[in-house]
Amino acid sequence: MLPNIPFNKPFIAGRELEYIAEAVENGHIAADGKFTRQCSAFLEERFGFEKVLMTPSCTAALELAAMLCELGPGDEVIMPSFTFVSTANAVVRTGATPCFVDIREDTLNLNEQLIEAAISQRTKAIMPVHYAGVSCEMDEINRIAAKHGLYVIEDAAQALNSTYQGKALGGLGHFAGFSFHETKNFVCGEGGALCVNDAKFIERAEILRDKGTNRKQFFRGEVDKYTWVDVGSSYVPSELACAFLFGQFEFLEKISERRQEIYREYMRRLEPLEKEGLLKLPRIPDHCGSNSHLFYILLPARAARDELLNYLRTESIHAVFHYIPLHSSPMGRKLGRSDERLNVTDGISGRLLRLPFFFDLDQLQQTRIVNAIATFLR
Ligand SMILES: *Cc1c(COP(=O)(O)O)cnc(C)c1O
Repeated sequence: MLPNIPFNKPFIAGRELEYIAEAVENGHIAADGKFTRQCSAFLEERFGFEKVLMTPSCTAALELAAMLCELGPGDEVIMPSFTFVSTANAVVRTGATPCFVDIREDTLNLNEQLIEAAISQRTKAIMPVHYAGVSCEMDEINRIAAKHGLYVIEDAAQALNSTYQGKALGGLGHFAGFSFHETKNFVCGEGGALCVNDAKFIERAEILRDKGTNRKQFFRGEVDKYTWVDVGSSYVPSELACAFLFGQFEFLEKISERRQEIYREYMRRLEPLEKEGLLKLPRIPDHCGSNSHLFYILLPARAARDELLNYLRTESIHAVFHYIPLHSSPMGRKLGRSDERLNVTDGISGRLLRLPFFFDLDQLQQTRIVNAIATFLR
């Protein structure tokens, strides 16, 4: 048997483990210690975000954003169906309805041309998902949102260190969520961040994140009592996770360069198969700067995708597919809405295959993966 090539593998970029030890020695491993502050300060300074609050996950960040928009029963939120469940969960938890819109053929992102037709009297927000770390058409989305008085919540889970016309993703809507789950580019096991890009929401965001208390204001000396002032929850991450994450942030460039190399290598070596018409490769628009979050190929049909997936398994290579479209899931059918048929979403989700992609993936492994795909398809 050939050695296994996993789909994903956690990695150490620098001083992650030292920082965890340091947090313990500092005597503070709960929320909002030195490393949590360093993580949010790093994101604010590096990317120019107005305010970043570290969270235990992107899911938590999106839930906070939904609460800050005061979504509730009767409200609708426009989003793609081709996304992870957290985008929709954040909305349905508040009692609001996700309204699923189809995606573009090229970037697999929310099709901005279809948004206006989906807007109703009840629409309150748009949630663009920057799939694979490639930006949605944010100028058009923000124009539509401004015209109709809607919030924009970027699901930027996959998109840290990506740009749209040179501007950092996560800073383009009212709110954005990032993920540091072990499958993302910069990781700490489970982790996330909320960007609050409109200053008027910062104070409430801090309160909701910290069990509905004004603890942050108290520690800043702005109020003389620390008490319960809103309906919150615990959306603070462990200092241990942030210590690990800060170790990764220090090597943001190194990690990003390695991912670009892996991405370019897949492109270069799979292009001959695309020329032969055996598969389709991703294309990134020129005005979108990608963080090389993931690499996918599109097969001609679902059967070919499923067979290739199984063949790779027999070669000890773990590829995966996603997403089961939300509009056809049990919860999506019950709680969501979609006016039109989502033909691109349905087609793509059956034909897409994600290849192993992680920091330590080496040349030899990439060669094995590409050769196995070529053997199967030819
Ligand atoms: C990973 C991901 C999430 C969830 O992130 P967590 O940190 O695991 O909560 C949400 N949306 C998208 C598009 C994702 O890829």
